[in-house]
Amino acid sequence: MSLRDEELERYARHIVLPQVGGVGQRKLKAASVAVVGAGGIGSAVIPALAGAGIGQLTIIDDDVVEPANLHRQPLFRERDAGYSKADLALQFVQRLNRFVTAKPVQQRIDAGNAGELLTGHDLVIDGSDNFATRLAVSDACVGLDVPLLSAAAVQFQGQVGLFRAQPCYRCFVGDAFDADDCDNCAELGVLGALTATVGSFAALLAINTIVGIGEDQAGKLHLFDGETLEWRTIRIPPDPRCRACGSA
Ligand SMILES: [Zn+2]
Repeated sequence: MSLRDEELERYARHIVLPQVGGVGQRKLKAASVAVVGAGGIGSAVIPALAGAGIGQLTIIDDDVVEPANLHRQPLFRERDAGYSKADLALQFVQRLNRFVTAKPVQQRIDAGNAGELLTGHDLVIDGSDNFATRLAVSDACVGLDVPLLSAAAVQFQGQVGLFRAQPCYRCFVGDAFDADDCDNCAELGVLGALTATVGSFAALLAINTIVGIGEDQAGKLHLFDGETLEWRTIRIPPDPRCRACGSA
């Protein structure tokens, strides 16, 4: 996949990096990424990936913009209230970078349709706001053998993890939350700047993973405390009895 002169100019600050170069920039252009949720996490992830020149972006969100979203979702404006987040995110991407092909999907992703919606992508980034969706997305990624980057922020706590084959996200959270469909942010609150921090970290991890920068992060969970402002990293042990990725 070659880069045109306009792209070489646009991505010059990437290409000059030895870790990226023309080879890495072509990998970004060749990549197809699905973003689940155009909310707080998505508002950081989608502009970063579109700006970075990810070739194909699928944006999955069935929601419309509400005034209570605006403190953490800078993809949207006051006048957007009531309009589709997936469609507005598409318009944002089109205005930012015409070398990116974006596809909006205005559907609620669940266990029934996740496999169909996520197939064909090189990476899935989940920034949804509830466990039932996250588990359905994770199970589909295991089934499709697509790496999953899961990012979440609630109150002052953030977490970002990359899951490939084993361990999977279900190894981490278990089976207790499949029926949970509450909106964590609505119930518990979240600091707007925290979702931006966590979303930007997720975007960086996504780009590093696609280009092949640094050591492989699969199976590690990065935790951020928005009060102490400290990151720490833990390793997720595979669950041999996991019903998604386990061998039993
Ligand atoms: Zn698992």
